[in-house]
Amino acid sequence: MLSDSVYTEVAVPLPIFRTFTYEVPETLIDLIHPGKRVLVPFGNRRVTGYVLALKRGITLHDQVKKILDVLDDIPLFPPSIIPFYRWVADYYLYPLGEVIKCALPGGLNITSIERISLNEKGRQVLDLAGMSPLERKVLNVLETEKGLTLKQIQQRLGERAPRAVIYNLKESGWVEIRQELKPGRVRPKMERYVRIGDNIPCKDSLSTVRRTILEVVSDYGEISISALKKVVPTAGQLMKRMASDQYLKIIEKPVYRDPFGEPIEQDTHAPILTSDQKSVVGEIKNALGGGFSTYLLYGITGSGKTEVYMQAVASVLERGEEALILVPEIALISQMERRFRARFGEKVAILHSGLSEGERYDQWLRIVRKEVQIAIGARSAVFAPFEHLGLVVVDEEHDDSYKQETGLRYHGRDLAIVRAKMAGAVALLGSATPSVQSFYNVKTNKYKGLNLLRRIEDRALPEVVIVDLRKEEERTRTIPIITSELKEEMSGTLMRGEQILLFLNRRGYAPYPVCARCGKVICCKNCDISLTFHHEAKVFKCHYCGFTEGMGARCRHCSSSRIRLLGMGTERVEETVRKMFPEARVARMDRDTTSRKGALIKILKGLRHKEIDILIGTQMVTKGHDFPNITLVGIICADLSLNFPDFRSGERTFQVLAQVAGRAGRGEKPGRVILQTYNPEHFCIETAKKQDYIAFYEREIGYRNALRYPPLSRLVLIRVEGRDEERAAQCARSLGNIVRDHIKKRREFQEIIEVLGPTNAPLPRLQNQYRWQLLLKGSNAGSLHELTQVLVQDLERSIRKKGIRIMVDVDPVFML
Ligand code: ADP
Ligand code: ZN
Ligand code: ZN
Repeated sequence: MLSDSVYTEVAVPLPIFRTFTYEVPETLIDLIHPGKRVLVPFGNRRVTGYVLALKRGITLHDQVKKILDVLDDIPLFPPSIIPFYRWVADYYLYPLGEVIKCALPGGLNITSIERISLNEKGRQVLDLAGMSPLERKVLNVLETEKGLTLKQIQQRLGERAPRAVIYNLKESGWVEIRQELKPGRVRPKMERYVRIGDNIPCKDSLSTVRRTILEVVSDYGEISISALKKVVPTAGQLMKRMASDQYLKIIEKPVYRDPFGEPIEQDTHAPILTSDQKSVVGEIKNALGGGFSTYLLYGITGSGKTEVYMQAVASVLERGEEALILVPEIALISQMERRFRARFGEKVAILHSGLSEGERYDQWLRIVRKEVQIAIGARSAVFAPFEHLGLVVVDEEHDDSYKQETGLRYHGRDLAIVRAKMAGAVALLGSATPSVQSFYNVKTNKYKGLNLLRRIEDRALPEVVIVDLRKEEERTRTIPIITSELKEEMSGTLMRGEQILLFLNRRGYAPYPVCARCGKVICCKNCDISLTFHHEAKVFKCHYCGFTEGMGARCRHCSSSRIRLLGMGTERVEETVRKMFPEARVARMDRDTTSRKGALIKILKGLRHKEIDILIGTQMVTKGHDFPNITLVGIICADLSLNFPDFRSGERTFQVLAQVAGRAGRGEKPGRVILQTYNPEHFCIETAKKQDYIAFYEREIGYRNALRYPPLSRLVLIRVEGRDEERAAQCARSLGNIVRDHIKKRREFQEIIEVLGPTNAPLPRLQNQYRWQLLLKGSNAGSLHELTQVLVQDLERSIRKKGIRIMVDVDPVFML
């Protein structure tokens, strides 16, 4: 039937790959708009959907349902970003509605919940036989309480009642299920304001206070009640009466929650660029407005990359366009955000997980309303709703935290480039240790390379001294933590009143507790991983699933309680350092000391104000911090990440070593690095010592080429997980067979795609899930994508079994 009704294409955030058409009722036609959320009937539920497009005069073959409501006053995203959402959904094989949900600030969506009650008929059968014990228990719970959710029933029962039990009870006609809507958690924040009312009083008839209130209000035109109270503390009580006399009018207005904790001093004078910086900025400025291109800025630590970003952004704003800056999560609360806000003030929105949901929503709306032209954020900021992007910056582009590891498994850096491409903008990646992937793209002319090879004011890169831990161990017959070389350097540094950074990429006290009787490792009960002993918390803890065991832990094999604490983590380093230098002020920065809100900022502040002499930390300390008084960096054990069964382990080792070394000597005083290692001749260590990225790259790309690993190929990782060991294995095997069948059928697949596995994942059991994986390696992205698409359809139809989870990771970063 051809109709002149208005229809709308809607994506729903459910595991469904297609979009749906709904009719727009007459009353909602003026309100509906692409980018707004709507409430739609879906099956027997009501769900939030996202309007993608409006259509008129189309022919429909099926009966369509009507949308129920329009949920937003203004669109949450511009229509121009919809093709980007579609691209993401297609590339990562993820439902479009879920992509959009992931892109938008969290907590907005209305959800439909089921409330379950016992009915009259159910009450009558309570005493009868003929039902399962579990069904009886459920009915007994419902006898006393009405309208429980499934979750509440499970809590009352203390066990997992499957949904099926409830549906059986409903089938039997004993319980009723009612759908109820639950609003999203986040709404605009409203604040009360006053204006001058319609009734103008004669001034002489008023008390002084009332007169002052009127004067203040008319001065401002409109003022929030809380601001007014600051001027006239007694205004609160009078206001109501003045409003009822219509001298004043009280209104409610949406306001923004303020995520910017402390005020930041303005930085109006940009420094004069060095000649290197000038030529880099010049090249980027030239590219702005000329369509899409990608630059990789390889700039050693302390070479002034941030200043380059800021000047490029200033030039984008002059052109009337917008700029997006992506940074690794941890760097946000430190310097990048401060420096941008000092330079650009109110033009900056920030988006990261340190904000409350409400604050994130407000920041998002400031972009939608075009009140800001710059957004700084972690990976998800790549979805920021700008309409005229001129520049997308990805700082520390090599950082693995750009990869999302749950749900929509996207890579923020890769998407930044796609986003720039679709917007015809410039993408600017920056790093002192570029990813092998990005540097390869420069070498093959996909990206343009830019360099900053000198530190600001020609400060020297720190000198790196390697200490061979094998020799030290032989000499002292103990496992060394602080070698004599490092100790000596530390004393000297403390004497000069300078600061020290000690790096060890492992938290806790002892990551390798072993039974003193039978020699077996003390493992997590849910994972095939050793527990880590935490001295402060006095527990053995699993770093994967969070399982903890108290001091009374026993060996699972021989029940002995004598446990030897082998290996070292940051807590043990701290203990050693405090004993060695009792006078020094020592702090530790790792996930354990920074989990409380504000704790990280406190440590960074302490460092800046020189209240800390020695900082011990994990990877966290490597990220982008600039502390001029740190002149000594000690790397306690450089080898920890070297032997991971992951083809990127060498790359990660080089990156982390070069980055942590780069924290030394950023001020006027030169820096020194003591690098302790068991593998002094490993090329990653040698090149990190010389801070010679190019030499590292040449060696590494040779290996990648020989093994056809990325960037010389593309990967798709398919992981099968399940509680039941045999079923997970079976499922993985049948997945393998199906993949090989598909490949057999198509010649181009045979030539291009290699299948590795299925095999046990390197971590074969985590959180009680047995893990298998299958790796697809392809020399052509198109064919690999095509095969994966076919597979995903198969997964839905035939492979997926009860109790088994299968996930597809396109361009995986973590292979364990
Ligand atoms: P990177 O991000 O490359 O490690 P930064 O941008 O943090 O380097 O710069 C290092 C230091 O040099 C910072 O304190 C910064 O303020 C300063 N700086 C940057 N550019 C200049 C310049 N042109 N003149 C003077 N100081 C500069
Ligand atoms: Zn034992
Ligand atoms: Zn565990």
